[in-house]
Amino acid sequence: MIKSAEALLSIAKAQALGDACFSYILTRIKPGVSEKAIAAEIENFLFDGGAEALAFPTICVSGENSAKPHGEPSDKLIKNGDFLTMDFGAVVDGYCGDMTRTVAVGRVSGKQRKVYNIVLEAQETALAAVKDGVPCSHIDKIARDIITNAGFGAFYTHSTGHGVGRQVHEDPRIGAESETVLAENMPVTVEPGIYIPGEFGVRIEDLAIVTKFGIINLTHSEKRMIVIN
Ligand code: ZN
Ligand code: ZN
Repeated sequence: MIKSAEALLSIAKAQALGDACFSYILTRIKPGVSEKAIAAEIENFLFDGGAEALAFPTICVSGENSAKPHGEPSDKLIKNGDFLTMDFGAVVDGYCGDMTRTVAVGRVSGKQRKVYNIVLEAQETALAAVKDGVPCSHIDKIARDIITNAGFGAFYTHSTGHGVGRQVHEDPRIGAESETVLAENMPVTVEPGIYIPGEFGVRIEDLAIVTKFGIINLTHSEKRMIVIN
């Protein structure tokens, strides 16, 4: 779970490519483009930027499909009023990146804005608590309590994060049942979400390195809600 400096640098490179990809893809998202087309553009960008492989099949889901945390990109066309969730990662020097952003297309309802901001608060608060010596279960509880207290606990259906290395999903698991304590030089994700069936979903995921004083966040993409017009 604890990685060498060399491995951490490779993970940082993979994630830097992810950040560049997110900036690029923002210029390509518009109503009338399919989820599959955006997923293909993400993957092409990662390969053009030096990825050896994809860390996992790209998730690119919009509108009602965004309520499926692990949904596959479909032929559905993105339309105004949709949330679009993109979860992707490159493999660089044998190590994985992993990040998720949800963006709004055209317009957002009051409910969408509310749910987005709850996920954002959960993500930022849990991430700020990540530090050497803190139990993983505590990080999960922070995110889950914020979502539950806001009334959406039933819609947070997965754990809060995981370790990353040569595989995209490694120990530690950041969940309620985890008995692992975070330690310096563990790369971990923090990725709470809310998924409302038949409506929409939101997930925000950063990949960061645990340190004695907190984290080095390897993910620099904007987290405040982006509305694409
Ligand atoms: Zn992810
Ligand atoms: Zn992840």
